[in-house]
Amino acid sequence: MVIRKQNSAISSPMTVIKKGSKIPTEHSVNTHFMTTPPNPKDDPESPYLASPKAFHLEMPLYHELKLSVPNIAGKTYMHMHNENPIDAFCIWCKKESVFKPIEHETKRTPRLTMYADENLIAKWVENDDDFIRITHACTRNHEHRYYTYYFKTKSSCTKIGQWPSTADFQIPQAEKYRKILKDSQYTEFTKGIGLSAHGVGIGSFVYLRRIFENLIEEAHIKKQKEDSSFENEKYRNSKMDTKIEMVKDLLPPFLVEHRILYGIMSKGIHLLTEEECLKYFEVVKIGIEQILDEKITQQEKEEKTAKARKAIQLVHGDLAKQSNPSPTL
Ligand SMILES: [Zn+2]
Repeated sequence: MVIRKQNSAISSPMTVIKKGSKIPTEHSVNTHFMTTPPNPKDDPESPYLASPKAFHLEMPLYHELKLSVPNIAGKTYMHMHNENPIDAFCIWCKKESVFKPIEHETKRTPRLTMYADENLIAKWVENDDDFIRITHACTRNHEHRYYTYYFKTKSSCTKIGQWPSTADFQIPQAEKYRKILKDSQYTEFTKGIGLSAHGVGIGSFVYLRRIFENLIEEAHIKKQKEDSSFENEKYRNSKMDTKIEMVKDLLPPFLVEHRILYGIMSKGIHLLTEEECLKYFEVVKIGIEQILDEKITQQEKEEKTAKARKAIQLVHGDLAKQSNPSPTL
């Protein structure tokens, strides 16, 4: 039996956790992938196998995990039997919370332990077909529950149900962007999130790219109004990279710095597979959110400045009246 160090316990080729040792936490798993990117050939399913949260709450429905691949079987087993809490947004508390796995319901008894070795994983894979329900409860209120359902055969494990859906808890988190996106853009943004949650990768990229393009166009319109010498014809005939350069002083700095996001989204639409788009969706979404966050901060600053200017003028007016009182009747 091969025994690995704690932080590399889920690396290829097979998950082996020594009985009695601590299972890697979500944080340590993420850190592991940040420092040592997985080889896609060894670990083609890595986005959803990277943490219990990605596995249970972000993996789209009908995503099939091939248990014939030892690395995938090991990680699937581990997440299925995870007993550690996970951080997630609670749609009822309306804020980030901690969810604890409280139930692992399967027709098999006794329940297999989370401390796995190759034999235990192999035994689990060999079991007959099984429906599995896993329940996570919010630690603030145990009635707040997230349910996920899986169908496992000897060769695969497929997520077949989730309630509330991924989109249900991702969309409320996007609510704050409503104030800076027009209604139609906000709808498109949430549609992108919803499509990704249902396993539609390329379509979700189309919506995110439209948000990005709209931000550039808004800056372009403003620039034209502010700068009469703006070379509009040159702008219209330029590629996105040059367009961003031409209106960059009106764009959030994160967008200008990470303009490569547009290239990733375009590549996604034209060249990448559904799976690849789904794999990169979260990264691209975070990039777009970062841009929108900067826009919100910018807008709030402008509003505060305008308010302060108005208040100062009022005080100034009052003081001027006091020093030069107008004659009364
Ligand atoms: Zn809650």
